[in-house]
Amino acid sequence: MAGQAFVTLATNNNYAKGAMVLGKSLRNHKTSRKLVALIGPRVAETSRAVLRKIYDEVQLVDVLDSGDMAHLAMMKRPDLGVTFTKLHCWTLTHYSKCVFMDADTMVVSNIDELFAREELSAAPDPGWPDCFNSGVFVFQPSYETYRKLLTACMEQGSFDGGDQGVLNSFFSDWATADISRHLPFIYNLSSIAIYTYLPAFKQYGHNAKVVHFLGKLKPWDYVYDATSKSVKGQTSGMQPNYLLQWWDVFSSSVVPLMKEEYSEQPFY
Ligand code: UDP
Ligand code: MN
Repeated sequence: MAGQAFVTLATNNNYAKGAMVLGKSLRNHKTSRKLVALIGPRVAETSRAVLRKIYDEVQLVDVLDSGDMAHLAMMKRPDLGVTFTKLHCWTLTHYSKCVFMDADTMVVSNIDELFAREELSAAPDPGWPDCFNSGVFVFQPSYETYRKLLTACMEQGSFDGGDQGVLNSFFSDWATADISRHLPFIYNLSSIAIYTYLPAFKQYGHNAKVVHFLGKLKPWDYVYDATSKSVKGQTSGMQPNYLLQWWDVFSSSVVPLMKEEYSEQPFY
């Protein structure tokens, strides 16, 4: 299955922590696919080194430096910087099919079966279910699609200021064309859905396969006490169990790699 990969994106050191946990969670659940992390120039060398221990490929995406169409698009729409960076995933044409996952997602079970789906498959957004949530989606790398997406982005912009608006406008028949492109909600479960429909969460939540920490506060914004295995302070809206699971992967699978990395670094 060398032709298929999970792909994520981190433009800074905080999202890089998310990418580390996501990558480790995929490995811990024994994915047979490749792992690719797209990173921005602001990700520090030590974070890159840790990512390289988890991911098969760590690719620097510097939209400002690229000199290609993305650079042009960026000059026209500087507000869409991260979005242009995310769209770069379509240029990974050495893979025939990929699953993009936000750096603030984590798998709690093997999800390799997603590769049986076609572009563009995604789960409904809890805020507007006729739109898909762009935190987890199946896509097919292609320069042609990449160019079309950039053009659409430049010309129409994004109705929500981010990649989700652009992608929903582009794959606009997602809601109606083909039900097989609707991923079950358990592939992109967010805390918003948990508190807006708690009985459904109680009924189906145990089947969750991907947890998405969407919203302003991310797991890495909390302070974790490794001895008592608890998170300090209010966990507003976030399901505390998932938050603890994220921190558990971070402390048991990521911190050891970071320690290795820091001890390999000479002090100046
Ligand atoms: N992202 C990033 N740097 C940023 C913002 C976003 O690398 O400063 C990437 C990261 O992969 C993140 C995704 O873009 O998971 C989407 O952003 P976010 O998850 O914050 O949005 P939400 O899911 O909360 O709407
Ligand atoms: Mn997200």
